[in-house]
Amino acid sequence: MPHIHSVAVFCGASLGASPAFRTAAEALGRGIARARWRLVYGGGQMGLMGVMANAALAEGGAVVGVIPDFLQRQEVVHGEVSELVVTASMHSRKRGIFDRADAFVSLPGGLGTLDETIEIITWRQLRLHDKPILLCNVMGSAGPLVAAVEQAVAQGFARPAVRDLFEVHEGVAAVLARLAALHAPAAGTSERL
Ligand code: AMP
Repeated sequence: MPHIHSVAVFCGASLGASPAFRTAAEALGRGIARARWRLVYGGGQMGLMGVMANAALAEGGAVVGVIPDFLQRQEVVHGEVSELVVTASMHSRKRGIFDRADAFVSLPGGLGTLDETIEIITWRQLRLHDKPILLCNVMGSAGPLVAAVEQAVAQGFARPAVRDLFEVHEGVAAVLARLAALHAPAAGTSERL
């Protein structure tokens, strides 16, 4: 299998309470661009999303933003991405991000980030895709999601094998190193999403 070419990142449309989150978003955007991977994300210029996209663009990276029409104004669409894809709905946005990526990284964020991260994991649980999913732990940010999965396993609602659907890495450098080592299925659609 080939190395990855395109990385989708889910992250907050806010900056969060600690400067460590901003630092992580900058480092990830920069690292993705330097590795010559294409960055795919939600297309906004707010919060960690904007910080990450700007860092990638500053390194001359290719950045694709996928944003639903109704959110264009609300989330202040990023005006300088390499490619902006405007979708009709949130569902087609998620689909658009999915189709263009061959690996996913989840940075700290709010409910939107949680939703996107859980959904991409559940799609893998349903065998709708086999693309790698990396949670980037920044100051314990991945803890609650991992705890929720562990609780589901402990209570008999999920098989222990669900732990293998995603990886948790400590900080951005570890995530970038893992991405570089990955051999992933090529970006592409799944008929059954
Ligand atoms: P947040 O993590 O809440 O700051 O949101 C990060 C990104 O997720 C933003 O681009 C939001 O538009 C998006 N988002 C928010 N709610 C949802 C949702 N229910 N489903 C998918 N994406 C969402």
